[in-house]
Amino acid sequence: AESCTPVLPVLGRDVTVPLVTGGEVTYAALDHAASAPALQRVWDDVAAYAPYYGSVHRGAGYLSQLSTDLFEQSRRAVAEFLGCREDDEVVFTRATTDSLNLLASALPAGTRVFVFETEHHASLLPWRGHDVTYLDAPRSPEQAVATLEEALHAAPAGPKLVCVTGASNVTGEIWPVRELTAAAHRHGARLVLDAAQLAPHRPVDVSELDVDWVAFSGHKLYAPFGAGVLAGRADWLRAAEPYLAGGGASRTVARREDGGVDVEWHTNAARHEAGSPNVIGAYAIASACGALRAAGFERLVAREEELLARLRAGLAEVPEVTVLSLFGDDADRVGVLSFVVEGWNSSHFAAALSAEHGIGVRDGLFCAHPLLRTLLGAESGAAGECGAPDAAAGAVSLNAIRVSFGVGTPDEHVSRFVSAVR
Ligand code: PMP
Repeated sequence: AESCTPVLPVLGRDVTVPLVTGGEVTYAALDHAASAPALQRVWDDVAAYAPYYGSVHRGAGYLSQLSTDLFEQSRRAVAEFLGCREDDEVVFTRATTDSLNLLASALPAGTRVFVFETEHHASLLPWRGHDVTYLDAPRSPEQAVATLEEALHAAPAGPKLVCVTGASNVTGEIWPVRELTAAAHRHGARLVLDAAQLAPHRPVDVSELDVDWVAFSGHKLYAPFGAGVLAGRADWLRAAEPYLAGGGASRTVARREDGGVDVEWHTNAARHEAGSPNVIGAYAIASACGALRAAGFERLVAREEELLARLRAGLAEVPEVTVLSLFGDDADRVGVLSFVVEGWNSSHFAAALSAEHGIGVRDGLFCAHPLLRTLLGAESGAAGECGAPDAAAGAVSLNAIRVSFGVGTPDEHVSRFVSAVR
């Protein structure tokens, strides 16, 4: 009979799952860092719109016009949510991975990229093919800034880009984005913020943080799968070849006398949005942005800190548990926490949480292999695949358990988790 005071209602509150011990229990979704349940409000908005949807930027019919308006309104709502500058572009993508690959495809020739080894693979890998400087894992926010500053100082002249996460998908620790951006700008570099984990938990204001671009995913921000955002400086995006070639990105296409074709591409966001756009995905993201703004991040953060304090206090009472951290106990963190349990293979532990307690967490290396190697000790042997722990690697257990929650999480999920771990 604990209080149950989530900030916003989400789908799936009443879903029950079977237990191996017999009977069933309501599902405790504690894997928000992978994908968060959709907000009820988002689902309602999408359902209300569904009968009216039509093709975007294509049809002449009333419903096509309505959908086009809704798509462009969604773009404006996202720009507002992110505090975009007047000239910024908001491009709808498939998710953060897609957004960062889009930006990677748009870098001016000769751009040198700086990225910490601690990043999610979506932030770590898209830059291959450019000159990339991988930075060692810092052990404090101050060291992160100093490490970046030193690397930029030593870099040759030319365009530079820093890619950094706002909050780690492994430790939940918040990175000093404003300070890193200031360091980047001092050295003539631009910065893209991977806000996949930050945006669902903290306000992300492009103007205030002064970042050049921001990327996030709808499915981690309480909207359904399939849509994400890249927002920020228009110049590199406008100068680049379209991310995908096709209808929607092209303004005019004409045969040349020599038999080839000439293409004039759009110069706005449409340049990188070829093909029929995901209007429902964009509308769902805009709806989620509106709901989070209306609830107020102050309230969201207060609630999250309360749950996180309970979670950490509960885990601290179990001596076999080691919580993974780069920046130490005092770090500012979102509701994402990874740990290992002495004497346990993390995959077995996570499987037991599911089978015996109806709790959904994630185990593995969280698509951040270099970071996990640093946190767990590189000598521990083979790593499981990203997203699918390798059974053969089970014996050496280079993996961890991650618990993560959000605006719809009731107290009971956290207390069930803590007593299950105990
Ligand atoms: N960056 C971070 C920090 C993430 O946590 C994730 C998702 N785990 C991504 C990028 C990639 O997001 P998506 O899978 O939605 O493209």
